[in-house]
Amino acid sequence: MTNKARLFVFSAPSGSGKTTIVRNILKQFPDFVFSVSATTRKRRNVEKEGIDYYFITEDEFVKKIENNEFAEWEKFYDYYYGTLKSLVDANISKGLTTVFEVDVKGALSIKRVYPFATLIFIAPPGIEELKERLIKRNTESDEDLKKRIERAEMELGFKDQFDYVVTNINLEQAKNEVKEIIESEL
Ligand code: 5GP
Repeated sequence: MTNKARLFVFSAPSGSGKTTIVRNILKQFPDFVFSVSATTRKRRNVEKEGIDYYFITEDEFVKKIENNEFAEWEKFYDYYYGTLKSLVDANISKGLTTVFEVDVKGALSIKRVYPFATLIFIAPPGIEELKERLIKRNTESDEDLKKRIERAEMELGFKDQFDYVVTNINLEQAKNEVKEIIESEL
């Protein structure tokens, strides 16, 4: 193991258990830091400013795009999401390993900017299970839910471009598999 900063980038259709897996990794590896993205989406009740996201206005987001402040950004479900370059670069210069949770296109963009990044795709067991999980989670309106399911189908098409694909059939098993991948990369 070296003390070089690593970038572990997680993508998965929403409802694949990605957030739980990413949280577990941050708990297992307390030296790792989470890349807090900026977004124009509304904050969910459980989320905290500066911890889950930086919740900013569309005007602020567009200004940051114009100022070239993002390593990558995407717009979906009518909201913007982006990774702030300054935060990633600060982590890298401090030798801190950074964990990202971004969409598939964002992950591929991060790899273009930082070719040493490791991309990990968390796949749901199947599209039906994913729909069930999203409905159970009950955090989205019907319209947003429909958009998320359509998007999930698109995202699954990108999984072969990732360094690793972990299928979340059993959450404990998926958590362990991801932990092993990270240990093998350190
Ligand atoms: P959610 O609204 O459920 O928090 O996130 C929706 C999607 O946006 C997820 O796929 C999440 O990984 C992705 N996402 C979050 N932050 C970023 C980011 O900075 N860049 C990109 N490209 N996607 C992001």
